[in-house]
Amino acid sequence: MSDTIQTTCPYCGVGCGISATVDKTHSHVTIAGDKNHPANFGRLCSKGFALAETLEVNGRLLQPQLFGQTSTWSNALDWVAQAFLKVIEQHGPEAVALYGSGQLLTEDYYVANKLMKGFIGSGNMDTNSRLCMSSSVAGHKRAFGADTVPGCYADVELADMIVFIGSNAAWCHPVIFQRIRAAKEARPALKIVVIDPRKTASCAIADLHLPLAAGSDTLLFNGLLAYLADHDAVDSAYIDQQTEGFSAALNSALATTQSTEHVAAQCQINSEDLQQFYQWFAQTNKTMSLYSQGVNQSTSGTDKVNAIINCHLATGRIGQPGMGPFSLTGQPNAMGGREVGGLSHQLAAHMDFSKPDDIQRVAQFWSSDRIAQQPGLPAVELFDAIYDGRIKAVWIMGTNPVVSLPNADKVKQALQRCELVIVSDCIAHTDTTALAHVLLPAQAWSEKTGTVTNSERRISRQRRLLTPAGEAMPDWWIISQVAQRMGFEQAFAYQTAADIFREHAALSGYENNGTRDFDISAFADMSDTDYEQLVPIQWPVNASHPHGKARFFADGKFYTPSGKAHFIAITPKPPQHLPDAQYPLILNTGRLRDQWHTMTRTAIAAKLNQHKPEPFVEIHPQDAKQYHLTHNGLAHINSRWGAMLARVQITDTQKRGNLFVPMHWTAQYASHGRMGSLVNPAVDALSKQPESKYTPVHISPYQPQWVGFILSRKALSLNHKDYWVKIKGEQFYRYELAGHDLPEHWPSWAQQQLGRLSSTPCLEYQDYHLGNYRTAQVIKQRLESVLFISRQKDLPERTWLSGLFSKPQLDDDEHRALLTGCPPLGKVDVGTMVCACFRVGEKTLVNAIKEQGLTTAAAVGQCLKAGTNCGSCVPEINVLLKRTLSVKTLP
Ligand code: SF4
Repeated sequence: MSDTIQTTCPYCGVGCGISATVDKTHSHVTIAGDKNHPANFGRLCSKGFALAETLEVNGRLLQPQLFGQTSTWSNALDWVAQAFLKVIEQHGPEAVALYGSGQLLTEDYYVANKLMKGFIGSGNMDTNSRLCMSSSVAGHKRAFGADTVPGCYADVELADMIVFIGSNAAWCHPVIFQRIRAAKEARPALKIVVIDPRKTASCAIADLHLPLAAGSDTLLFNGLLAYLADHDAVDSAYIDQQTEGFSAALNSALATTQSTEHVAAQCQINSEDLQQFYQWFAQTNKTMSLYSQGVNQSTSGTDKVNAIINCHLATGRIGQPGMGPFSLTGQPNAMGGREVGGLSHQLAAHMDFSKPDDIQRVAQFWSSDRIAQQPGLPAVELFDAIYDGRIKAVWIMGTNPVVSLPNADKVKQALQRCELVIVSDCIAHTDTTALAHVLLPAQAWSEKTGTVTNSERRISRQRRLLTPAGEAMPDWWIISQVAQRMGFEQAFAYQTAADIFREHAALSGYENNGTRDFDISAFADMSDTDYEQLVPIQWPVNASHPHGKARFFADGKFYTPSGKAHFIAITPKPPQHLPDAQYPLILNTGRLRDQWHTMTRTAIAAKLNQHKPEPFVEIHPQDAKQYHLTHNGLAHINSRWGAMLARVQITDTQKRGNLFVPMHWTAQYASHGRMGSLVNPAVDALSKQPESKYTPVHISPYQPQWVGFILSRKALSLNHKDYWVKIKGEQFYRYELAGHDLPEHWPSWAQQQLGRLSSTPCLEYQDYHLGNYRTAQVIKQRLESVLFISRQKDLPERTWLSGLFSKPQLDDDEHRALLTGCPPLGKVDVGTMVCACFRVGEKTLVNAIKEQGLTTAAAVGQCLKAGTNCGSCVPEINVLLKRTLSVKTLP
């Protein structure tokens, strides 16, 4: 017997529905895409498919801890409540803060916001969504008068042109990308344009890629607005009747752009390509502009959003099927956080501190006479205030700011200095929990119950699959218990997540009368059973729209005082910190296909670690030459704020003068891989979102005396500090190593790292002349560990050796070949993993392409299954096809 439960993926803002089948012993969960969920219709990406592998109790935070000692819940909650009250009594409510996460469920978020803003009386509740999409929030509010996403996912199948701006959806929102790829295959006339400094995996289906200079988006879209006006492609009736401010916006655009050639030169792109894009945009009524962190994470983030929206307003392309600006949110519940006021300038239910009536209304609804009267501090300023000692107690929920915030070393110091750091999390060991005085075990994805909202305003249920590990509790329960102990018993007497959802729904309809976009008042009286059975639905859900609503603004009515949409006059501004002689390159940061945020969950799934196993830096071939870097060598990257080490990947997908590093690695998985250390803390003046895509840096080769690797069946406690990366594999752990100093005696050093007794028999090889050392240990014919060290940097590939850990017994040939690191004759090495779902490596793919004469990704799929499950690797299969076939056809 087994149960199948409909829930939602906990990773990106696509918000895919999942059908999770739990066996009767509750020890095995099978994950499949929910065929009825309107976000994905059964599709999942590699991360979603690997969810079952992340449901480990190992590594979970299982009990409350006070200053390193296990505590009961009752003691821990009393202690936290009293400590907060003491700080507030001595220093006032502004001396405490909450820092939340787009991983929290809406019910958790609602209660946290209510406690801080409604009852503690400070605005100091902010969230990691500040780093993700606060520029979209600010842009929406300027243009529409409310934080409204106008369209829906179904529009991607109805559009005739889709423009990706600062969005590598192929890796960051893979299922939406799959839907678009399928639409393009069905309708090749559908035009795809990618506007991004990098040639990303999303370019695989693009008709046109505009590799614009980093930060020049506002100029490019000002140029488009001027072009539309100049070519009589604006909708004058729409502009007159439904909008305000067109003349000022157009004048700004004309004043800053001069001509298409001028814009192309300033944006460093081919003038004909730009002309082509402008022409297509002018001619294609059903155009969607999908944008993401490449737009938002900028000191001009809000202006970039409005520059895009201006072009849609000018053409009247908003609120109708197949068209409109569309912000792809990063996190599973970034939208839910926005609904309940997770950002420090918001209140709840799309109300905020800028309107005294809103403050009054929320206070009345909550029956609170202590409500905050002004916004709190946004993320970067909030951690500055902790550093300066203005905030004395902070409670961090489900996020890892020591890794993810810009100027991350300062964030680490801030928490080291802070009088009281409380962290509630489901994971025991993160870079942030390491600095906490109090740890509170929260329930993980498979244990929680509540709601999330995806990028298209669709509210879906996350449902419990498994019994919570240890003493883990829901975040809303933990917050409510602390609130009750602080004296707010009545306002936080929730018994279930459904109680909170009903209150949240009631507040959304309270004195609304159509004045606020967010209205789910139809749920205010829903029963527990209806809450349990809630099916995915797009807000608003009220008396006028009992079944939800796909699109806003089709009626031309907006939430501004005049009811008209606002054009915003945009004057392009340079980023706050520009490259100079000391820091001549621009650092861009972003996500990878198979990892999520700070890897606390995805790094547990062995198959997700094989695609990109180490922190890396991508650099253009000419820049690599100029800075004396070699492919797969190591590089030292430093900025005014910090430094990191990364593996060099030389690629012409990178624009000259630009570097790219992934955002994911933490001190738990790499000695020097935290990119947040490098990133500048400049923020957008309106949205307060940090500039994570533009930091001036310097790069130089890191030349260790030796390099090496360990593969070990057990996780190790290395005492090597110079350079290491830890990668979980299938039944083994892999450690990549490099060092400045040569140990006096390699065998003793190896024993220390491997935790091996000197008497343990092992295979060894040492070349004193070349400085190479290799050792392997086999117990009862099963491989336990191998260690390879080389001073010539000529190590074998790891895939064949790694595969041996899954074998119950080594055969004699394999045993003999161990210290060569290469497969014996007749055995194959599959190469770097490309398809995570079916574990198909690069060498296998290249061999099949050559030997079987495969010419399309579909043919590769038929032959090897690669790319036929989640499809996330299809862009890379296409790159391999192109590379292999072009080599094959050389004379
Ligand atoms: Fe999860 Fe992938 Fe869907 Fe995003 S696209 S919600 S990560 S399955």
